[in-house]
Amino acid sequence: MDSILVINAGSSSVKFQLFEIAQNRELTLLMKGQVGGIGTQARLSVHSRDNTVLADQAFSRHEVPDVSAALNRAGAWLRDRHNVHPVAVGHRVVHGGPDHDRPVVVDRSVVAELERYIPLAPLHQPHNLAPIRSLLDNQPHIVQVACFDSAFHRGHGPLADHYAIPEHFYAEGVRRYGFHGISYEYIAERLNRMAPEVAQGRVIVAHLGSGASMCALLNGRSIETTMGFSVLDGLPMGTRPGQLDPGVLLYLMLQKKLEPAAVEELLYHESGLKGLSGITNDMQELEASRDTRASFAIDYFVYRAALHAGMLTAALGGLDAFVFTAGIGENSPTVRAGIAERLGWLGISLDRAQNDARAQLISSPQSRVAVYVIPTDEELMIARHTVQLLAANTRA
Ligand code: AMP
Repeated sequence: MDSILVINAGSSSVKFQLFEIAQNRELTLLMKGQVGGIGTQARLSVHSRDNTVLADQAFSRHEVPDVSAALNRAGAWLRDRHNVHPVAVGHRVVHGGPDHDRPVVVDRSVVAELERYIPLAPLHQPHNLAPIRSLLDNQPHIVQVACFDSAFHRGHGPLADHYAIPEHFYAEGVRRYGFHGISYEYIAERLNRMAPEVAQGRVIVAHLGSGASMCALLNGRSIETTMGFSVLDGLPMGTRPGQLDPGVLLYLMLQKKLEPAAVEELLYHESGLKGLSGITNDMQELEASRDTRASFAIDYFVYRAALHAGMLTAALGGLDAFVFTAGIGENSPTVRAGIAERLGWLGISLDRAQNDARAQLISSPQSRVAVYVIPTDEELMIARHTVQLLAANTRA
């Protein structure tokens, strides 16, 4: 049995999914797992497709001090317990820089190039690259593919790609890159299969999870998005503020004398739903709370999402369809209804029963804009790209 391993590595966890490749290159999920608590109380947990627990194993800080050790533990478990030897590994990499508009097979020179983008995404890129380097060292025969969150937006025109600051910064790489592209690409493909005529039109996809952004699709291609240079801009998120007047940052640093590290902590970990509510970054918990600060944070999220949808509608010159995806988008009828209500002026109306039932099509028959709920699957998208590049690599 040939299999593909998909790896999504962060600062304290390595998540992975294993897919079987059939003769016709169809992919079937076999298991998903993670090594969490890296460097503290590491734990390998693995589930089968039907959620049966396959592994739940604790390690000391000494046994799993870093991502490379975590990868070795997971790899040893896959080999020893399940005789798994993946033919290729696909990685989620947040930043592909200005030029990568599609996934690539990685070797040492590509890794060296991707390391240049660490200053552009210091909290994600080093962790994404760590398992690639580790596999190049330990299993150099395995084909590795990097899939970038920024790649899907690389077709943006110069108007969407620029900030209004002196041009030399653009040349240096200060651009509106956009992220969540693997998710948007998956949704664009799904929508094209579900409703090809709709997919050829003007579509907004709202990826609403712990990280949140929106993307304007024209004929299945991204033309505009709410995130920019970093994953901080646009919609409010679990712990990130979204759009913020840069004057606030100047005030914090110059008047309040906050150090850059403190500002970074504030922007990445203390703001958004968490900062606003003072309770939690978790939408489900906010919805369950009776605290007025919780309902304010939800109202704020809905309000800002609707504002950004208006902006993207202007970029598209109108709207034919709206898609909700990711943790909040897929699971919160309340947030979906709130955003749809604020977009009533666009001719959006929801079928309440369909929305509550989390149906695929949740707009009412008279809605001028079709509204869908489509679960995203970034790992499957990465696995597909990996199979394609593996085939191309083998032919070459
Ligand atoms: P993600 O990052 O895509 O996994 O999404 C995580 C977010 O989805 C968290 O804020 C969760 O609280 C939220 N979420 C997951 N399930 C639900 C639910 N049933 N209702 C509301 N929010 C949910």
